[in-house]
Amino acid sequence: MISEFIKKIKNTSYYKDQIIFQRSIPEKDPQFGSLAFQLAPELEQWLRENEWKLYSHQADALNIINKGKNVVVTTSTASGKTLIFSLAVAQAITQRENSTALFLYPMKALANDQLSKMEELNAVLEGRLRPFIYDGDTPSERRPAIRNTARVIISNPYAFHRYLDWHSKWERFFRNLRFIVIDEAHTYRGVFGSNVAQLIRRLQRICEFYRSQPQFILSSATINNPREFAEKLIGTPLHIITNDGSQQGSKELVIWNPPFVDQFNSKRRSPHQETRDLLFSHLSEHYQTLCFTLSRKMSEIIAVWARQDLEKHELDPEQVMAYRAGYRPLERRRIESQLRNREISAVVSTNALEVGIDIGNLDAVLLSGFPGTIISTWQQIGRVGRTTRPSLATLILFEDAYQQFLGRHPEYFLEKTPENAIIDLNNPYIVKGHILCAASELPIKKAEISKIWGEVGMKVIKELLNQDVLKLVPAGIVPKSIKHPSQQVSLNSAFTESIEIIVSEKLLETMTTAQAYREAHEGAILIHQGEKYLIETIDWENKKAYASPHRVDYYTEAISISDVEIIAQENEKDIGYLLTFGEVKVTEFYHSYRKKTYDEVLEIVPFDLPPLEFNTKAVWINLPSSIVTKVKAEKKDFSGGIHALEHATIALSPLFALCDRWDIGGTSYPNFPDDGTAKIFIYDGFPGGIGIAEQLFEKWEVLLSNVLQLIQECPCSEGCPSCIQSPKCGNDNFPLSKEVAIDLLKELKLLSKN
Ligand SMILES: [Zn+2]
Ligand SMILES: [Zn+2]
Repeated sequence: MISEFIKKIKNTSYYKDQIIFQRSIPEKDPQFGSLAFQLAPELEQWLRENEWKLYSHQADALNIINKGKNVVVTTSTASGKTLIFSLAVAQAITQRENSTALFLYPMKALANDQLSKMEELNAVLEGRLRPFIYDGDTPSERRPAIRNTARVIISNPYAFHRYLDWHSKWERFFRNLRFIVIDEAHTYRGVFGSNVAQLIRRLQRICEFYRSQPQFILSSATINNPREFAEKLIGTPLHIITNDGSQQGSKELVIWNPPFVDQFNSKRRSPHQETRDLLFSHLSEHYQTLCFTLSRKMSEIIAVWARQDLEKHELDPEQVMAYRAGYRPLERRRIESQLRNREISAVVSTNALEVGIDIGNLDAVLLSGFPGTIISTWQQIGRVGRTTRPSLATLILFEDAYQQFLGRHPEYFLEKTPENAIIDLNNPYIVKGHILCAASELPIKKAEISKIWGEVGMKVIKELLNQDVLKLVPAGIVPKSIKHPSQQVSLNSAFTESIEIIVSEKLLETMTTAQAYREAHEGAILIHQGEKYLIETIDWENKKAYASPHRVDYYTEAISISDVEIIAQENEKDIGYLLTFGEVKVTEFYHSYRKKTYDEVLEIVPFDLPPLEFNTKAVWINLPSSIVTKVKAEKKDFSGGIHALEHATIALSPLFALCDRWDIGGTSYPNFPDDGTAKIFIYDGFPGGIGIAEQLFEKWEVLLSNVLQLIQECPCSEGCPSCIQSPKCGNDNFPLSKEVAIDLLKELKLLSKN
């Protein structure tokens, strides 16, 4: 029936050979496993009554947990990971009545889901589990009772980041802590993940103080480096479970490339319009569909379009709903249950529905744009095909270089492993913030420093002692005067100077100066929890920006050019030419911002800001003079060539390090001021670096050979947004030369083969 549907689509008036790839994924029979230990009789009976048999990965994980070991389960979305944590914790509590467990979720919606599952088990165990959500929304009058009686606490990293300073109030809970459950662990990557890894080390210090040794149970989407990643996150070894035993129906995968409307300029039809047409075809066929968009705005717009199309055909427009994280919990839960009960036909959502929220079994999923990572792509595709019924997943490509490259090379996400998830334990700015918090929670003993934070910790503590921020007392190292430092340390950034965003005399949020340059300059439209605010004035001296709610249909994007200075080389490879990794000082000159709607630039507005300086990590190459001379002798545009090469390299970098192209910066020099050589730098856009440049250093040659393919294969003649043009360029994409970029890449390839 799926193949019939695809045939029908091929007969519609909007079909112009958009299907560039199609593959069937066969169905998979379930594999079951058995427990090597005796489950409590109540739990045994509960499984029997529900006619649940344990899949092999569930049984394997429970067997390992029962031996007291840490475990990370990396199987597909909705493969029943929740049952693993729930059973493990319930079993432990039937064995020792005072045991407690902490569940950390990255999102509120998931915490609610887990609570309802634990409540069900609580009834089975006649009230012995006592599960509660405890976070920023918990009313203060209920807090002491929960702290003193709960066996299971469901919360999030942001909340526990604050609570650790008050650990003495949690003594009973920490003293008896048996399990720390970290669901959706792959979301703790990059800057946020590096902060959460530090938070977990602080949590472990507190547990050690109360003499408990909790076991860790983690779950994660499929990533390339689950063991390395999970061990960095929690700081101790663990077992990996990857053999997914769950049942899967057959699935048809389709990649859809919007047709050219102007072949010469490589202009394609809008992917949003394509999504609209396809979604309506799905609805007419009564396929219950989940449509993922890349932005909140587009999820709203596409839902509106779908309703209009239904009305035009005298169908019920109420069949389609939009969904995003900013909606009220009640509203979200209503939509989730309507999906589960098949009361609505389609939901258009941001990636908020990508995580393990239970929405039942859908027929089709439409990905309106590549979601940025292979991990997310599989998470989204994994929302269909959980039963024996066949399903359809369609990825609609945008015109940018990365997506067009993936469209031509679908093997990248079909056959290759997904990305590495990065955690950086050595970023001094991040470590600094958490050492301050830790010192406030419990005095830091000398012996702890290198054990927990390594060399970077020793350096940071020395610096903080010298600056009189920390002091040495007989009990250890404590803060000199700062109270509750966790209030100033954000899990989403490094501990640096910050700007407060004020709306009608109330604090809306704080952000780092670097973020403020990009998102909170005068005239910027700041998006906070889905609402738009206009930044009216900014007082750099007092570190405050004043904003007001604003209804506009554009957003803003700051434009900068950057300058790089080499501070220290840390690693160097001769790969036929010199490839270097090291520390650099980046100076970014922000000169104007763009007002944009989702597909066009309305206006470019100049502004004036002092340059922004930060130290970070970079990878760079020296273009050998033989190549430079050759290109110049042919009177070709050398500057345009290396500029194009820089853009295309940045565009493909996310394939090799799990990051967004906005997390990386770059700049190229036909004549680098220090030594007159031609150099290209790619740097981590985050102060101190977060491990991206390091990954690129390791994989540089593969990266460049893909960049050559990307540029060569692009059907344009002079360069376009699908190859060498960058939406982020501070020089308005000038000069650029596609031809010279290809020449340079070919020459580099020849050298690296020798
Ligand atoms: Zn092109
Ligand atoms: Zn540029």
